[in-house]
Amino acid sequence: MKKYKVDVLIVGTGVAGLYSAINLRSDLNIMIITKTSAKTCNTYLAQGGISKAKDLSDMKLFIEDTIKAGMYKNNEQAVKVLAEESIENIQNLTKLGVNFDNKGSGFSYTKEGAHRISRIVHCTDETGKAVFESLYNRVKERQNIKILENTCLIDIINDEGTCTGGVALYKNNVINISSKVTILACGGIGKLFKNSTNQETIEGNGIAIALRNNVYIQDLNYIQFHPTALYDKNSTFKRFLISESVRGEGGKLININGERFVDELLPRNVVTQAIKKELIKTNSDYVYLDVTHLDKKFIKKRFPLIYSECLKRRLDITKEKIPVIPTQHYLMGGIKVDLFSKTSMENLYACGETSCTGVHGANRLASNSLLEGLVFSKRAADQINKNIDNIKVKEIYNQMSYEEGLKLCKENIDIVIRELTKVGGDIINELDNSR
Ligand SMILES: Cc1cc2nc3c(=O)[nH]c(=O)nc-3n(C[C@H](O)[C@H](O)[C@H](O)COP(=O)(O)OP(=O)(O)OC[C@H]3O[C@@H](n4cnc5c(N)ncnc54)[C@H](O)[C@@H]3O)c2cc1C
Repeated sequence: MKKYKVDVLIVGTGVAGLYSAINLRSDLNIMIITKTSAKTCNTYLAQGGISKAKDLSDMKLFIEDTIKAGMYKNNEQAVKVLAEESIENIQNLTKLGVNFDNKGSGFSYTKEGAHRISRIVHCTDETGKAVFESLYNRVKERQNIKILENTCLIDIINDEGTCTGGVALYKNNVINISSKVTILACGGIGKLFKNSTNQETIEGNGIAIALRNNVYIQDLNYIQFHPTALYDKNSTFKRFLISESVRGEGGKLININGERFVDELLPRNVVTQAIKKELIKTNSDYVYLDVTHLDKKFIKKRFPLIYSECLKRRLDITKEKIPVIPTQHYLMGGIKVDLFSKTSMENLYACGETSCTGVHGANRLASNSLLEGLVFSKRAADQINKNIDNIKVKEIYNQMSYEEGLKLCKENIDIVIRELTKVGGDIINELDNSR
Protein backbone atom coordinates (compact mmCIF):
# COMPACT_ATOMS: atom_id res chain seq x y z
CA MET A 1 0.00 0.00 0.00
CA LYS A 2 1.41 3.37 -1.06
CA LYS A 3 1.29 6.24 1.47
CA TYR A 4 1.47 9.99 0.91
CA LYS A 5 1.60 12.76 3.50
CA VAL A 6 0.52 16.29 2.50
CA ASP A 7 -0.79 19.45 4.10
CA VAL A 8 -3.89 19.72 1.91
CA LEU A 9 -5.61 17.02 -0.13
CA ILE A 10 -7.99 18.35 -2.81
CA VAL A 11 -10.35 15.99 -4.61
CA GLY A 12 -11.33 17.23 -8.08
CA THR A 13 -9.85 19.34 -10.88
CA GLY A 14 -12.87 21.47 -11.74
CA VAL A 15 -13.10 25.18 -10.97
CA ALA A 16 -13.54 24.57 -7.22
CA GLY A 17 -10.56 22.23 -6.84
CA LEU A 18 -8.13 24.19 -9.01
CA TYR A 19 -9.07 27.65 -7.71
CA SER A 20 -8.84 26.57 -4.08
CA ALA A 21 -5.33 25.17 -4.81
CA ILE A 22 -4.24 28.44 -6.44
CA ASN A 23 -5.43 30.44 -3.46
CA LEU A 24 -3.68 28.28 -0.86
CA ARG A 25 -0.31 29.39 0.53
CA SER A 26 2.69 28.52 -1.62
CA ASP A 27 4.52 27.02 1.39
CA LEU A 28 1.86 24.30 1.76
CA ASN A 29 2.35 20.86 0.28
CA ILE A 30 -0.80 20.24 -1.80
CA MET A 31 -2.01 17.16 -3.66
CA ILE A 32 -4.95 17.25 -6.07
CA ILE A 33 -6.42 13.94 -7.14
CA THR A 34 -8.87 13.43 -9.97
CA LYS A 35 -10.76 10.41 -11.19
CA THR A 36 -9.67 10.33 -14.83
CA SER A 37 -7.95 13.07 -16.85
CA ALA A 38 -7.84 16.53 -15.27
CA LYS A 39 -10.03 18.05 -17.94
CA THR A 40 -12.82 15.50 -17.50
CA CYS A 41 -14.94 17.73 -15.29
CA ASN A 42 -18.16 19.68 -15.73
CA THR A 43 -16.21 22.92 -15.52
CA TYR A 44 -14.61 22.13 -18.89
CA LEU A 45 -18.09 21.82 -20.46
CA ALA A 46 -19.51 25.13 -19.21
CA GLN A 47 -20.70 27.21 -22.10
CA GLY A 48 -22.73 30.30 -21.21
CA GLY A 49 -20.51 32.18 -18.81
CA ILE A 50 -20.10 33.50 -15.29
CA SER A 51 -22.42 35.97 -13.56
CA LYS A 52 -20.92 39.00 -11.94
CA ALA A 53 -22.39 42.13 -10.38
CA LYS A 54 -21.79 44.63 -13.17
CA ASP A 55 -20.74 47.28 -10.69
CA LEU A 56 -21.61 48.29 -7.13
CA SER A 57 -24.97 49.68 -8.21
CA ASP A 58 -25.97 46.24 -9.57
CA MET A 59 -25.37 44.44 -6.26
CA LYS A 60 -28.95 44.75 -4.98
CA LEU A 61 -30.50 43.65 -8.28
CA PHE A 62 -28.14 40.66 -8.62
CA ILE A 63 -29.01 39.52 -5.10
CA GLU A 64 -32.74 39.89 -5.82
CA ASP A 65 -32.52 38.00 -9.13
CA THR A 66 -30.64 35.11 -7.46
CA ILE A 67 -33.17 34.86 -4.65
CA LYS A 68 -36.21 35.13 -6.91
CA ALA A 69 -34.88 32.39 -9.23
CA GLY A 70 -34.10 30.28 -6.12
CA MET A 71 -37.80 30.51 -5.13
CA TYR A 72 -36.86 32.39 -1.94
CA LYS A 73 -35.27 29.23 -0.47
CA ASN A 74 -31.73 30.66 -0.64
CA ASN A 75 -29.37 31.32 2.23
CA GLU A 76 -29.47 35.10 1.97
CA GLN A 77 -26.10 35.60 3.63
CA ALA A 78 -24.48 33.30 1.07
CA VAL A 79 -26.16 35.20 -1.78
CA LYS A 80 -24.84 38.49 -0.40
CA VAL A 81 -21.30 37.05 -0.23
CA LEU A 82 -21.64 35.68 -3.77
CA ALA A 83 -22.64 39.04 -5.22
CA GLU A 84 -20.22 41.13 -3.17
CA GLU A 85 -17.19 38.98 -3.98
CA SER A 86 -18.08 38.41 -7.65
CA ILE A 87 -16.24 41.45 -9.02
CA GLU A 88 -12.97 40.66 -7.23
CA ASN A 89 -12.98 37.00 -8.28
CA ILE A 90 -13.65 37.74 -11.95
CA GLN A 91 -10.78 40.24 -11.82
CA ASN A 92 -8.60 37.48 -10.33
CA LEU A 93 -9.55 35.17 -13.19
CA THR A 94 -8.48 37.73 -15.76
CA LYS A 95 -5.15 38.10 -13.91
CA LEU A 96 -4.76 34.32 -14.04
CA GLY A 97 -5.12 34.47 -17.82
CA VAL A 98 -8.82 34.08 -18.71
CA ASN A 99 -9.57 36.29 -21.72
CA PHE A 100 -13.24 37.10 -21.45
CA ASP A 101 -14.88 38.48 -24.60
CA ASN A 102 -14.54 42.25 -24.74
CA LYS A 103 -16.51 45.09 -26.20
CA GLY A 104 -14.51 48.31 -26.47
CA SER A 105 -12.97 49.00 -23.11
CA GLY A 106 -14.96 46.52 -21.00
CA PHE A 107 -16.46 43.04 -20.85
CA SER A 108 -19.04 42.01 -23.42
CA TYR A 109 -21.89 41.04 -21.08
CA THR A 110 -24.68 38.68 -22.09
CA LYS A 111 -28.10 37.99 -20.59
CA GLU A 112 -29.61 34.70 -19.48
CA GLY A 113 -32.93 33.56 -17.99
CA ALA A 114 -34.18 35.44 -14.90
CA HIS A 115 -31.34 38.00 -14.96
CA ARG A 116 -32.92 41.44 -15.29
CA ILE A 117 -29.80 42.88 -16.90
CA SER A 118 -26.89 41.58 -18.98
CA ARG A 119 -24.26 40.67 -16.36
CA ILE A 120 -22.66 37.47 -17.65
CA VAL A 121 -19.04 37.43 -18.79
CA HIS A 122 -18.06 34.73 -21.26
CA CYS A 123 -15.46 33.33 -23.66
CA THR A 124 -17.71 32.72 -26.70
CA ASP A 125 -19.64 29.54 -25.79
CA GLU A 126 -16.59 27.78 -24.31
CA THR A 127 -16.21 29.67 -21.05
CA GLY A 128 -15.54 26.56 -18.98
CA LYS A 129 -12.73 25.37 -21.23
CA ALA A 130 -11.06 28.80 -21.05
CA VAL A 131 -11.40 28.91 -17.24
CA PHE A 132 -10.16 25.34 -16.83
CA GLU A 133 -7.12 25.86 -19.07
CA SER A 134 -5.97 29.03 -17.32
CA LEU A 135 -6.41 27.56 -13.83
CA TYR A 136 -4.83 24.24 -14.79
CA ASN A 137 -1.79 25.96 -16.37
CA ARG A 138 -1.29 28.13 -13.27
CA VAL A 139 -1.53 25.06 -11.00
CA LYS A 140 1.03 23.20 -13.12
CA GLU A 141 3.46 26.10 -12.63
CA ARG A 142 3.32 25.77 -8.84
CA GLN A 143 6.11 23.66 -7.38
CA ASN A 144 4.09 22.95 -4.23
CA ILE A 145 1.09 21.37 -6.01
CA LYS A 146 1.05 17.82 -7.36
CA ILE A 147 -1.81 16.51 -9.52
CA LEU A 148 -2.49 12.79 -9.53
CA GLU A 149 -4.80 11.78 -12.40
CA ASN A 150 -6.73 8.48 -12.68
CA THR A 151 -7.06 8.40 -8.91
CA CYS A 152 -10.51 7.80 -7.44
CA LEU A 153 -11.29 8.78 -3.85
CA ILE A 154 -13.30 6.00 -2.22
CA ASP A 155 -13.41 7.26 1.36
CA ILE A 156 -12.00 9.80 3.77
CA ILE A 157 -10.03 8.77 6.85
CA ASN A 158 -12.26 9.50 9.81
CA ASP A 159 -10.47 9.72 13.16
CA GLU A 160 -13.42 9.94 15.56
CA GLY A 161 -15.04 12.86 13.73
CA THR A 162 -11.86 14.48 12.40
CA CYS A 163 -10.84 14.05 8.79
CA THR A 164 -7.19 13.05 8.50
CA GLY A 165 -6.97 12.32 4.78
CA GLY A 166 -8.34 10.10 2.05
CA VAL A 167 -8.20 6.60 0.64
CA ALA A 168 -8.14 6.23 -3.15
CA LEU A 169 -7.77 3.71 -5.95
CA TYR A 170 -4.78 4.28 -8.22
CA LYS A 171 -3.45 1.86 -10.85
CA ASN A 172 -5.05 -1.26 -9.29
CA ASN A 173 -3.83 -0.27 -5.83
CA VAL A 174 -5.26 1.32 -2.73
CA ILE A 175 -3.36 4.46 -1.74
CA ASN A 176 -3.60 6.43 1.51
CA ILE A 177 -3.10 10.18 1.60
CA SER A 178 -2.68 11.64 5.06
CA SER A 179 -3.56 15.37 5.20
CA LYS A 180 -4.14 18.14 7.72
CA VAL A 181 -7.07 19.40 5.65
CA THR A 182 -9.13 17.74 2.91
CA ILE A 183 -11.27 19.60 0.35
CA LEU A 184 -13.97 17.69 -1.50
CA ALA A 185 -14.56 19.34 -4.89
CA CYS A 186 -16.06 16.30 -6.62
CA GLY A 187 -18.91 17.97 -8.52
CA GLY A 188 -22.55 16.91 -8.88
CA ILE A 189 -24.56 13.76 -9.58
CA GLY A 190 -25.35 13.70 -13.34
CA LYS A 191 -24.30 10.12 -14.06
CA LEU A 192 -26.94 8.78 -11.69
CA PHE A 193 -29.63 9.91 -14.15
CA LYS A 194 -30.80 8.32 -17.38
CA ASN A 195 -29.84 11.49 -19.21
CA SER A 196 -27.70 14.41 -18.14
CA THR A 197 -25.56 17.17 -19.58
CA ASN A 198 -22.78 16.15 -17.15
CA GLN A 199 -19.53 14.26 -17.68
CA GLU A 200 -19.84 10.51 -17.21
CA THR A 201 -17.51 10.56 -14.20
CA ILE A 202 -19.71 12.87 -12.15
CA GLU A 203 -21.68 10.54 -9.92
CA GLY A 204 -22.02 12.04 -6.46
CA ASN A 205 -18.92 10.42 -4.90
CA GLY A 206 -18.27 13.31 -2.52
CA ILE A 207 -21.84 13.20 -1.28
CA ALA A 208 -21.70 9.42 -0.79
CA ILE A 209 -18.49 9.71 1.22
CA ALA A 210 -20.05 12.44 3.34
CA LEU A 211 -23.16 10.32 3.97
CA ARG A 212 -21.00 7.30 4.84
CA ASN A 213 -19.19 9.38 7.48
CA ASN A 214 -22.24 11.15 8.93
CA VAL A 215 -21.23 14.53 7.51
CA TYR A 216 -24.34 16.71 7.11
CA ILE A 217 -26.06 16.90 3.75
CA GLN A 218 -28.63 19.50 2.71
CA ASP A 219 -31.36 19.87 0.03
CA LEU A 220 -30.64 16.78 -2.08
CA ASN A 221 -34.15 17.22 -3.48
CA TYR A 222 -33.16 20.45 -5.25
CA ILE A 223 -32.10 19.13 -8.65
CA GLN A 224 -32.07 21.31 -11.74
CA PHE A 225 -33.22 20.15 -15.17
CA HIS A 226 -31.89 22.38 -17.93
CA PRO A 227 -34.67 23.23 -20.38
CA THR A 228 -32.63 22.97 -23.58
CA ALA A 229 -30.36 19.98 -24.14
CA LEU A 230 -30.09 18.85 -27.76
CA TYR A 231 -32.60 16.12 -28.54
CA ASP A 232 -30.76 13.26 -30.19
CA LYS A 233 -32.59 9.97 -30.34
CA ASN A 234 -29.27 8.11 -30.66
CA SER A 235 -27.81 9.54 -27.44
CA THR A 236 -27.51 7.01 -24.62
CA PHE A 237 -26.59 9.11 -21.59
CA LYS A 238 -24.85 12.41 -22.20
CA ARG A 239 -26.84 15.12 -23.87
CA PHE A 240 -25.19 18.08 -25.50
CA LEU A 241 -26.28 21.36 -23.93
CA ILE A 242 -27.64 24.29 -25.90
CA SER A 243 -26.65 27.12 -23.60
CA GLU A 244 -29.18 29.43 -22.02
CA SER A 245 -27.25 32.32 -23.58
CA VAL A 246 -28.67 31.22 -26.96
CA ARG A 247 -32.06 32.29 -25.60
CA GLY A 248 -30.39 35.32 -24.03
CA GLU A 249 -29.23 36.41 -27.49
CA GLY A 250 -32.74 36.03 -28.97
CA GLY A 251 -33.36 32.29 -29.53
CA LYS A 252 -37.08 31.43 -29.47
CA LEU A 253 -38.78 28.30 -28.15
CA ILE A 254 -41.57 26.94 -30.34
CA ASN A 255 -43.55 23.72 -30.31
CA ILE A 256 -43.66 21.26 -33.21
CA ASN A 257 -46.62 23.19 -34.63
CA GLY A 258 -44.52 26.35 -34.85
CA GLU A 259 -46.23 28.11 -31.90
CA ARG A 260 -44.39 30.03 -29.17
CA PHE A 261 -45.52 28.91 -25.72
CA VAL A 262 -43.32 30.50 -23.05
CA ASP A 263 -41.20 33.56 -22.28
CA GLU A 264 -37.73 32.10 -22.93
CA LEU A 265 -36.07 34.18 -20.24
CA LEU A 266 -38.05 32.98 -17.24
CA PRO A 267 -36.16 30.95 -14.58
CA ARG A 268 -34.96 27.48 -15.69
CA ASN A 269 -37.47 25.51 -13.63
CA VAL A 270 -40.38 27.49 -15.09
CA VAL A 271 -39.20 27.05 -18.70
CA THR A 272 -38.56 23.34 -18.07
CA GLN A 273 -42.10 22.85 -16.75
CA ALA A 274 -43.56 24.75 -19.71
CA ILE A 275 -41.65 22.50 -22.14
CA LYS A 276 -42.75 19.33 -20.34
CA LYS A 277 -46.40 20.44 -20.60
CA GLU A 278 -45.95 21.24 -24.27
CA LEU A 279 -44.44 17.80 -24.97
CA ILE A 280 -47.56 16.17 -23.54
CA LYS A 281 -49.93 18.58 -25.28
CA THR A 282 -48.34 18.07 -28.71
CA ASN A 283 -47.49 14.40 -28.15
CA SER A 284 -43.89 15.03 -29.14
CA ASP A 285 -40.43 14.07 -27.82
CA TYR A 286 -39.03 17.58 -28.24
CA VAL A 287 -39.74 21.25 -28.85
CA TYR A 288 -37.63 23.55 -31.02
CA LEU A 289 -35.18 26.30 -30.20
CA ASP A 290 -35.06 28.58 -33.20
CA VAL A 291 -32.19 30.95 -34.04
CA THR A 292 -32.66 31.03 -37.81
CA HIS A 293 -33.87 34.65 -37.59
CA LEU A 294 -30.49 35.74 -36.13
CA ASP A 295 -27.57 36.89 -38.29
CA LYS A 296 -25.63 33.82 -39.53
CA LYS A 297 -22.21 35.41 -38.98
CA PHE A 298 -23.19 36.38 -35.45
CA ILE A 299 -24.30 32.81 -34.63
CA LYS A 300 -21.04 31.30 -35.87
CA LYS A 301 -18.90 33.86 -34.04
CA ARG A 302 -20.86 33.91 -30.78
CA PHE A 303 -21.63 30.17 -30.54
CA PRO A 304 -18.81 28.37 -32.38
CA LEU A 305 -19.00 25.24 -30.22
CA ILE A 306 -22.77 24.84 -30.44
CA TYR A 307 -22.70 25.57 -34.19
CA SER A 308 -19.99 22.98 -34.88
CA GLU A 309 -21.36 20.29 -32.51
CA CYS A 310 -24.78 20.55 -34.15
CA LEU A 311 -23.20 20.51 -37.63
CA LYS A 312 -21.42 17.25 -36.68
CA ARG A 313 -24.93 15.87 -36.15
CA ARG A 314 -25.98 17.21 -39.56
CA LEU A 315 -27.92 20.13 -38.14
CA ASP A 316 -27.11 23.60 -39.48
CA ILE A 317 -28.55 25.85 -36.78
CA THR A 318 -28.32 28.94 -39.02
CA LYS A 319 -30.89 27.26 -41.31
CA GLU A 320 -32.75 24.70 -39.18
CA LYS A 321 -34.53 24.73 -35.83
CA ILE A 322 -32.80 22.88 -32.98
CA PRO A 323 -34.81 20.04 -31.34
CA VAL A 324 -34.38 20.34 -27.55
CA ILE A 325 -35.52 18.56 -24.41
CA PRO A 326 -35.14 19.18 -20.63
CA THR A 327 -32.33 17.12 -19.06
CA GLN A 328 -30.74 16.69 -15.62
CA HIS A 329 -28.07 19.35 -15.27
CA TYR A 330 -27.20 20.52 -11.77
CA LEU A 331 -27.55 19.79 -8.05
CA MET A 332 -28.35 22.75 -5.81
CA GLY A 333 -28.08 20.63 -2.65
CA GLY A 334 -25.04 18.71 -1.43
CA ILE A 335 -22.65 18.60 1.51
CA LYS A 336 -23.81 21.26 3.96
CA VAL A 337 -21.14 23.94 4.44
CA ASP A 338 -20.82 27.31 6.15
CA LEU A 339 -19.77 30.55 4.46
CA PHE A 340 -16.15 29.33 4.42
CA SER A 341 -17.03 25.96 2.86
CA LYS A 342 -16.40 24.12 6.11
CA THR A 343 -18.43 20.93 6.54
CA SER A 344 -19.77 19.52 9.80
CA MET A 345 -16.59 17.40 10.15
CA GLU A 346 -13.35 18.75 11.60
CA ASN A 347 -10.70 19.56 8.93
CA LEU A 348 -13.05 18.70 6.05
CA TYR A 349 -14.15 21.31 3.49
CA ALA A 350 -16.42 20.98 0.44
CA CYS A 351 -16.58 23.43 -2.49
CA GLY A 352 -18.36 23.80 -5.80
CA GLU A 353 -21.29 21.69 -6.93
CA THR A 354 -20.67 18.95 -4.38
CA SER A 355 -21.32 21.44 -1.57
CA CYS A 356 -24.46 23.19 -0.46
CA THR A 357 -23.93 26.77 0.66
CA GLY A 358 -27.64 27.36 0.12
CA VAL A 359 -26.76 30.12 -2.33
CA HIS A 360 -28.95 28.76 -5.14
CA GLY A 361 -32.04 27.98 -3.07
CA ALA A 362 -34.34 25.59 -4.92
CA ASN A 363 -33.33 26.66 -8.43
CA ARG A 364 -29.97 28.03 -9.55
CA LEU A 365 -29.88 31.31 -11.46
CA ALA A 366 -28.05 30.79 -14.76
CA SER A 367 -24.24 31.17 -14.64
CA ASN A 368 -24.10 31.34 -10.85
CA SER A 369 -22.40 27.95 -10.52
CA LEU A 370 -18.91 28.77 -11.73
CA LEU A 371 -19.14 31.91 -9.62
CA GLU A 372 -20.07 29.90 -6.53
CA GLY A 373 -17.11 27.60 -7.23
CA LEU A 374 -14.78 30.60 -7.35
CA VAL A 375 -16.09 32.64 -4.42
CA PHE A 376 -16.49 29.84 -1.90
CA SER A 377 -13.35 27.87 -2.76
CA LYS A 378 -11.33 31.07 -2.29
CA ARG A 379 -13.00 31.59 1.08
CA ALA A 380 -12.08 28.01 2.03
CA ALA A 381 -8.47 28.60 0.98
CA ASP A 382 -8.30 31.88 2.94
CA GLN A 383 -9.54 30.17 6.11
CA ILE A 384 -7.23 27.17 5.67
CA ASN A 385 -4.24 29.52 5.13
CA LYS A 386 -4.97 31.12 8.52
CA ASN A 387 -5.66 27.96 10.53
CA ILE A 388 -3.56 25.16 9.13
CA ASP A 389 -0.45 25.79 11.21
CA ASN A 390 -2.43 24.89 14.34
CA ILE A 391 -3.63 21.56 12.95
CA LYS A 392 -1.90 18.41 14.13
CA VAL A 393 -3.25 15.13 12.77
CA LYS A 394 -2.61 11.54 13.66
CA GLU A 395 -1.30 9.60 10.69
CA ILE A 396 -3.82 6.79 10.28
CA TYR A 397 -3.71 4.46 7.30
CA ASN A 398 -6.46 2.24 5.97
CA GLN A 399 -5.28 -1.29 5.15
CA MET A 400 -8.13 -2.34 2.83
CA SER A 401 -7.41 -4.53 -0.19
CA TYR A 402 -7.99 -3.43 -3.80
CA GLU A 403 -11.06 -5.71 -4.01
CA GLU A 404 -12.52 -4.10 -0.88
CA GLY A 405 -11.78 -0.70 -2.42
CA LEU A 406 -13.66 -1.59 -5.60
CA LYS A 407 -16.63 -2.72 -3.52
CA LEU A 408 -16.64 0.61 -1.70
CA CYS A 409 -16.57 2.40 -5.02
CA LYS A 410 -19.76 0.67 -6.13
CA GLU A 411 -21.39 1.20 -2.74
CA ASN A 412 -20.73 4.95 -3.08
CA ILE A 413 -23.08 5.05 -6.06
CA ASP A 414 -25.74 2.95 -4.31
CA ILE A 415 -25.64 5.24 -1.25
CA VAL A 416 -26.56 8.34 -3.28
CA ILE A 417 -29.16 6.53 -5.41
CA ARG A 418 -30.81 5.32 -2.18
CA GLU A 419 -30.83 8.84 -0.77
CA LEU A 420 -32.26 10.30 -3.99
CA THR A 421 -34.96 7.64 -4.05
CA LYS A 422 -36.08 8.88 -0.63
CA VAL A 423 -36.64 12.31 -2.21
CA GLY A 424 -39.41 10.71 -4.28
CA GLY A 425 -41.61 12.51 -6.80
CA ASP A 426 -40.61 12.88 -10.46
CA ILE A 427 -36.92 12.36 -9.63
CA ILE A 428 -37.39 8.58 -9.24
CA ASN A 429 -38.47 8.19 -12.88
CA GLU A 430 -35.41 10.10 -14.06
CA LEU A 431 -32.85 8.01 -12.12
CA ASP A 432 -30.81 5.40 -13.93
CA ASN A 433 -31.62 2.17 -12.12
CA SER A 434 -30.05 -0.04 -14.77
CA ARG A 435 -26.69 -0.46 -13.02
C1 LIG B 1 -22.75 21.23 -20.17
C2 LIG B 1 -22.67 22.14 -18.99
C3 LIG B 1 -22.68 23.51 -19.17
C4 LIG B 1 -22.60 24.37 -18.05
N1 LIG B 1 -22.56 25.73 -18.26
C5 LIG B 1 -22.39 26.54 -17.18
C6 LIG B 1 -22.21 27.95 -17.35
O1 LIG B 1 -22.18 28.45 -18.46
N2 LIG B 1 -22.06 28.71 -16.24
C7 LIG B 1 -22.07 28.19 -14.96
O2 LIG B 1 -21.92 28.94 -14.00
N3 LIG B 1 -22.21 26.86 -14.79
C8 LIG B 1 -22.35 26.03 -15.85
N4 LIG B 1 -22.49 24.68 -15.66
C9 LIG B 1 -22.35 24.15 -14.30
C10 LIG B 1 -20.88 24.18 -13.89
O3 LIG B 1 -20.07 23.87 -15.01
C11 LIG B 1 -20.58 23.18 -12.79
O4 LIG B 1 -21.54 23.25 -11.79
C12 LIG B 1 -19.22 23.52 -12.19
O5 LIG B 1 -18.25 23.54 -13.20
C13 LIG B 1 -18.86 22.51 -11.12
O6 LIG B 1 -17.52 22.71 -10.77
P1 LIG B 1 -16.88 21.78 -9.67
O7 LIG B 1 -15.46 22.19 -9.56
O8 LIG B 1 -17.71 21.79 -8.46
O9 LIG B 1 -17.00 20.30 -10.29
P2 LIG B 1 -16.52 19.69 -11.67
O10 LIG B 1 -16.03 20.70 -12.60
O11 LIG B 1 -17.62 18.81 -12.15
O12 LIG B 1 -15.29 18.80 -11.22
C14 LIG B 1 -15.46 17.67 -10.41
C15 LIG B 1 -14.13 16.98 -10.27
O13 LIG B 1 -14.18 15.98 -9.28
C16 LIG B 1 -13.55 14.81 -9.75
N5 LIG B 1 -14.06 13.66 -9.01
C17 LIG B 1 -15.35 13.26 -8.84
N6 LIG B 1 -15.41 12.18 -8.06
C18 LIG B 1 -14.13 11.86 -7.74
C19 LIG B 1 -13.52 10.85 -6.97
N7 LIG B 1 -14.25 9.90 -6.37
N8 LIG B 1 -12.17 10.82 -6.87
C20 LIG B 1 -11.40 11.74 -7.50
N9 LIG B 1 -11.92 12.75 -8.22
C21 LIG B 1 -13.27 12.81 -8.34
C22 LIG B 1 -13.86 14.80 -11.22
O14 LIG B 1 -12.96 13.94 -11.91
C23 LIG B 1 -13.67 16.27 -11.55
O15 LIG B 1 -12.30 16.55 -11.73
C24 LIG B 1 -22.55 23.81 -16.75
C25 LIG B 1 -22.55 22.43 -16.58
C26 LIG B 1 -22.60 21.60 -17.67
C27 LIG B 1 -22.59 20.13 -17.45
